[in-house]
Amino acid sequence: MILQDDRYQIQGIDLVSLTETYGSPLYVYDGQKIVDQYHGLKDSFSKVKVNIKYAGKALTNQAILQLMKREGAGLDVVSIQEAQLGIRAGFEPHEILYTPNCVSFDEIKEAVELGVKINIDNISILEQFGHVYHGTVPICVRLNPHILAGGHHKISTGHIDSKFGISVHQLRHVLRVIDTNGLKVEGLHVHTGSDVLDPEVFLRGADIIFEAAHSFPDLQYIDFGSGFKVAYREGDAVTDISLLASRIEEAFLEFCQEYGRELEMWFEPGKYLVSEAGYMLVRTNVIKTTPATVFAGVDSGMNHLIRPMMYDAYHDIVNLSNPQGTQRVYTVVGYICETDTFGWDRKLNEVREGDILAIKNAGAYGFSMSSNYNSRFRPAEVLVYQGKHHLIRKRETMDDLLVNQVPVEW
Ligand SMILES: *Cc1c(COP(=O)(O)O)cnc(C)c1O
Repeated sequence: MILQDDRYQIQGIDLVSLTETYGSPLYVYDGQKIVDQYHGLKDSFSKVKVNIKYAGKALTNQAILQLMKREGAGLDVVSIQEAQLGIRAGFEPHEILYTPNCVSFDEIKEAVELGVKINIDNISILEQFGHVYHGTVPICVRLNPHILAGGHHKISTGHIDSKFGISVHQLRHVLRVIDTNGLKVEGLHVHTGSDVLDPEVFLRGADIIFEAAHSFPDLQYIDFGSGFKVAYREGDAVTDISLLASRIEEAFLEFCQEYGRELEMWFEPGKYLVSEAGYMLVRTNVIKTTPATVFAGVDSGMNHLIRPMMYDAYHDIVNLSNPQGTQRVYTVVGYICETDTFGWDRKLNEVREGDILAIKNAGAYGFSMSSNYNSRFRPAEVLVYQGKHHLIRKRETMDDLLVNQVPVEW
């Protein structure tokens, strides 16, 4: 988003005018930013074969999945429905890695039938899988290296009491199950959490996986997960991707030499690819001055973007309608009957009723975590790509709220 001629724009398209066309609140995605993030990440690796699987749960709109596919990405999914959405969007099943947690074995069987790659993250499922498929369906195994990482305890998955992955301390048990059932393990996976700043965390995880990998002779790839941190406010530290890439490539090449074969290196970023590309545009309904605070109350809330409330996430807010206005301090809140604060004490160009605000970093875990709480409609989504804007999801209507409700014959 740039400010030009007093108007905030994406690829030459005025953001405020998009709300005039499509209404508000509105999710807007900058397709070029997504493409740039993907290739920037991919091109940081030059010495190993790297495969980037977009973690679709961050933003699952078909148009976004199709964009990823066109650029050459694979797909990481966490539910059978995401796998189905990926196939609908044009991914080949073998390009999809299904990484579920605590799903039923029936759902795993469905995934096998779809033909997607299966990542197993607990010993019980590993055993059941072994009994049914033996070595006929190669699998990936998700290990938990017990590294404490991540920007918030709710998004940290690698610690000792996390529900994710199979503990590396249970490796001997895993190997026994694999041996007994003749399972074929073609991939190892590790994902320590989200918002991981320090490349050392990835390297520590990698070291643990490399050590374990020597016990798996059939490997084709190692999946190092994701969790790359992006900037949520100006000047925020972000994961140094080029440093990470060169360090992990070096370690990986060394490992491959010991292992005796060159494997593929996989990553599965969600946030890194789509977070900064997304904006949620909201309209200011009221300015409410209390003895303590000036609130800007907008036509959206935790039902549309829950990250500030759920993770205490900081999302930058910009007044698009008054770029030259005097800066004042506002607390930007939603219209939901909960304390749904988008940002406390933010310095914004003077906000007047009717002004359109942009909430930044809304691409990842924005729309995909939205709900109908308070019986509000979910927003429309617009993709800006090659200088054009495309409506990629219609705003909901009362019909959507009622579509699955079954009236009682009183
Ligand atoms: C959520 C998730 C990701 C993506 O994490 P980001 O922080 O969005 O990059 C990757 N892999 C798995 C298994 C996940 O659950």
